[in-house]
Amino acid sequence: MQMTHRGDTKELLDKPHEHCAVFGIFGCSHAAQMTYYGLLAQQHRGQEGSGIVTSDYDQTDQKYHFRSHKDFGLVNDVFRNDSILTERLIGSSAIGHNRYSTSGASDNRQNIQPLIVNYRNGNIAIAHNGNLTNFRTLRKQLQDEGTIFQTTSDTEIILHLVAKSKETDQIKQVLDALRCIEGAYSLVILTNDKLIAARDPHGWRPLAVGKLDGGYVVASETCAFDIIKASYICDVRPGEMLVFDRETLNTSEAKSFRITKEEHKPCYCIFEYIYFSRPDSKIFGESVDRVRRNLGETLAIEHPVRADSEDETVIVINVPDSSNTATLGFVSGNTELGNKSKYEIGLIRSHYVGRTFIQPMQDLRETKVRTKFNTVREVLKGEKIVIIDDSIVRGTTSKQLVNLIRDAGAREIHFRVTSPPIRFPCYYGMDFPDPNELIANRCHGNVEEIRKDLGVDTLEYLSLDRLLQSVPHENGESYCTGCFSGDFPTKIETDVCKDENEA
Ligand code: SF4
Repeated sequence: MQMTHRGDTKELLDKPHEHCAVFGIFGCSHAAQMTYYGLLAQQHRGQEGSGIVTSDYDQTDQKYHFRSHKDFGLVNDVFRNDSILTERLIGSSAIGHNRYSTSGASDNRQNIQPLIVNYRNGNIAIAHNGNLTNFRTLRKQLQDEGTIFQTTSDTEIILHLVAKSKETDQIKQVLDALRCIEGAYSLVILTNDKLIAARDPHGWRPLAVGKLDGGYVVASETCAFDIIKASYICDVRPGEMLVFDRETLNTSEAKSFRITKEEHKPCYCIFEYIYFSRPDSKIFGESVDRVRRNLGETLAIEHPVRADSEDETVIVINVPDSSNTATLGFVSGNTELGNKSKYEIGLIRSHYVGRTFIQPMQDLRETKVRTKFNTVREVLKGEKIVIIDDSIVRGTTSKQLVNLIRDAGAREIHFRVTSPPIRFPCYYGMDFPDPNELIANRCHGNVEEIRKDLGVDTLEYLSLDRLLQSVPHENGESYCTGCFSGDFPTKIETDVCKDENEA
């Protein structure tokens, strides 16, 4: 869901952001409540806004009605009033969305998804995870033809393309629209009587299908299924569109359509494994936990931290919470190499961050980091410390964490990262800061320069080759590594990340 420029200078944790999470449900009672839980489990993928749309057939007027509720805020805030879910959003099918946006779009209420329109074939609502790479061209074309846009989101383009299709059948209209768009999309679309799930031909973003009672659910991550006790069936394949309707409920088979005739090489976003997805999810058919442990273990093999003597124990700590699992892998890899290593909790993350006041002579970012993290002195004092992180973006938070660990009395600090240096922007749905702000670029890709900047004894990144060796390939999987290698698998509209129409 492309909306606006990147460059979130307010960001505290200095990590890339996912743009969104999607959820869809068909043929289940309490569809809105199930969607609420599905969104809650996927809160990490977007925290700025949330919304649910339901479709309900009213026997009295014999018509379908769409009902929706969306607002800024976390899922719990948006749906704090129970009656919204229990009385207002009635129906047995629904879609939902968690949105992340950068600051420029924060005040644009129209951009909160799902987007809903009514056109000649009835109601249609859409929720999108990913970025379209040809959205500026398409938007201009549509505007030249007289289309009036309600939002600054690329997702709205899909609805206009559906409405403008010359086909009469709704499924063919959606296929028509999907054949015009390029880039990353994992979509859930709700019509009066169908749920449609579609994934772009490269499959950048995940999209999983599950079963719940007699009905079906679709979600960005499988952790959304666990919370409602749905069982995972499969992924929507790259380039596939699945349609769930009444017939599906009788035959237990969703209708499957190819979006494009030609097959594309998959380009799964490798960052989903490194950082984004929850470790209790299955992504691209594989457990995130398992892959992250592999990443940590491989990092230890590639860049071990040696114990100075047989008696010395290397203390390995994680940056909570995203590098927890990889740290376990590093400890076991480093130990297997003969370096006695112990996993310790040396950094404590507060989940309740208050305001930070700018004070004279005080670095605002340092204050912010201190409100979020504290050290356990007893764990760190006098020790050789290895700190494991999944990625370094600007390096500002990493530097502050190193200072905190040093202040706590660590004897040596060795920084290990379970991904290669990030040097390029992402055009497929992950939000990085401006390339000039990336520490790997500021230091000209020179790891020694980055090490000095961070003030650590040693710094090592997992190499791209080792990263690719650590992720599954058994079923023909291949991955996008654009933000590390600069090798982008599609043509990019160079100013795709800027939207001068942003309100
Ligand atoms: S550029 Fe990086 S973050 Fe973006 S899709 Fe590719 S691997 Fe993922």
